[in-house]
Amino acid sequence: MFTDSHCHLDFPCFKDELDPLLAALKQKGITKLVIPATQASAWPMIKEMASAHSPLYYSLGIHPHFLDSFEEVHLAHLHDMLLSRDDKCIALGEIGLDKFAQASQTQQEWVFVKQVEIALQLELPIILHCVKKQGRVLAILKALNFQQGGVYHAFSGSLEVAHEFIKLGFKLGVGAVITYPNSTKTRQTFATLPLDALLLETDAPDMPLYQQQTKNNSPLNIIPIFECLASLRSEPKAQLATQLYNNMHNIFSLSND
Ligand SMILES: [Zn+2]
Repeated sequence: MFTDSHCHLDFPCFKDELDPLLAALKQKGITKLVIPATQASAWPMIKEMASAHSPLYYSLGIHPHFLDSFEEVHLAHLHDMLLSRDDKCIALGEIGLDKFAQASQTQQEWVFVKQVEIALQLELPIILHCVKKQGRVLAILKALNFQQGGVYHAFSGSLEVAHEFIKLGFKLGVGAVITYPNSTKTRQTFATLPLDALLLETDAPDMPLYQQQTKNNSPLNIIPIFECLASLRSEPKAQLATQLYNNMHNIFSLSND
């Protein structure tokens, strides 16, 4: 059985195809999926989707690319919704810093810090979005003494940086980047890291596979991402699949059914 630790099934492109997609996922053995929220306006819908469909779990948070709609009151709502969360809400995210986001670094950092503080208060793992800001994110997490981990989604980078995040309790999201032959460093990193530090993800509808023909990425692509990871690793496929499945359960405290 497989999981997708990061897919945006609340985005409009999935609206009319959710039921057939969930049926296709079930058929492929992809049984648990996490929808990470990106902005406050999406929180109620994501919560509703997860309560209507047993394979779906979710996290609540404010993504650095979505700060144009941010209001300070959202932080209080975030705290309150997480405090009274249901069983399907398993983390705070996705949050972080992105060099290419429109919002200023000052605003991104302020919103990020506030959300990490909520995660600390409520003892929740975080789903981290970090693009070209690894040093800064590490400095902030260390300054706040954040050690309860979560997932560094769509990790790309060196073994050394990966270990810095693992020390803070993070698992690293393995996505379509490994299917690109020229992403040598990231492929090498994922070939070498301890298996218990890895999680599969698609980031659908973003991050298409190498030479993908369709416009949108799909959580069904967990299978080719798994196959690619298996080709980079030395463990037998069955062992790899079992450990990846267990990692998802461990980091998000899911019940193993
Ligand atoms: Zn995402």
